[in-house]
Amino acid sequence: MDNKIKKNLSELRFNLESKDWVVIATERAKKPDELQGKKTKQKCVFCSLGIESKPSLVFSQGKKIENIDALPDDWTLMVIPNKFPAVTHGDNLQERAEGPYSLMDGIGFHEIVVTRDHLRDMSQLSLKEIKEVLDAYQERYLELMNERFVNYVSIFHNHGSGAGATINHPHSQIMAIPITDPDIQKSLIGSRRYWDFQQKCLHCEMLKWDKEIGDRIVFENNDFIALCPFASRMAFHVRIYPKEHLSYFERANEEQKIALAEVFQIVLSKLRKTLGNLAYNFFLRTSPCDGKDHSYYHWHFEILPRTSIQAGFELGAGIEISTIAPEKAAERLRM
Ligand SMILES: [Zn+2]
Ligand SMILES: [Zn+2]
Repeated sequence: MDNKIKKNLSELRFNLESKDWVVIATERAKKPDELQGKKTKQKCVFCSLGIESKPSLVFSQGKKIENIDALPDDWTLMVIPNKFPAVTHGDNLQERAEGPYSLMDGIGFHEIVVTRDHLRDMSQLSLKEIKEVLDAYQERYLELMNERFVNYVSIFHNHGSGAGATINHPHSQIMAIPITDPDIQKSLIGSRRYWDFQQKCLHCEMLKWDKEIGDRIVFENNDFIALCPFASRMAFHVRIYPKEHLSYFERANEEQKIALAEVFQIVLSKLRKTLGNLAYNFFLRTSPCDGKDHSYYHWHFEILPRTSIQAGFELGAGIEISTIAPEKAAERLRM
């Protein structure tokens, strides 16, 4: 690897105390003003995408376009590499020590999923359009999981500057990385422990109880259920689960993706109706693609509207404060 490429690589640094990994990606500080949230008169970069953006996937009206070199005028979704990636493609995952510390190069893939319409966010897309987004997530997941050094594929969506979106045009991000992120690690360990001691899935147990009680359920169809978790991280926190015990998102079939699209559409539009055009994040929690067996895990999506900001107590004590009981939040969302 020559020095020039090496200089641009981000770093994955290990926190010895918390056992969490962090990404140090200094190149991302060079994002242009438009991406930094400052208003410019420049045209939206995602509205003027072409083949020079080197898409890895293009959809038009729900159909995958095989010949990307001849981009159709009516493309509806495109997956492109992130111009300011937090991790970059490389062929050497150098794990090394620096005194008591350990770090490695930020190897991986960082892609952007762009839906065509600048003005309509995920909560305003049709069922067919949301299904197309889910198809794109799955399609790229299946490709990236087989890349060298990729052990986890993180899929997330930031809406609004309050949720960290640095560009207004609706888009999701996919990061394929060598390590499992700290949050999913906690979720995996908790699920694993329950599975080992109780021989049951923790999430299936929670779902069973929540279905019986009913007051935290927001919406359900045959295959999926949306609820405000018992220990919600913030007001109007919503989780979407497959009802069946499923450990790997990438194995979702057509029927399941259609059902998931319906739940997404209903939950996001209910959140919009209740909270207005509030910033939100949603992300996938699924089993790592590290070749190990994670059949104890139950994949799901988490939706976190930015109803509050993380202040000193949340950051210092690590305890989140929710300003509305999840039962009350679910009741309002059901209306
Ligand atoms: Zn745009
Ligand atoms: Zn389960």
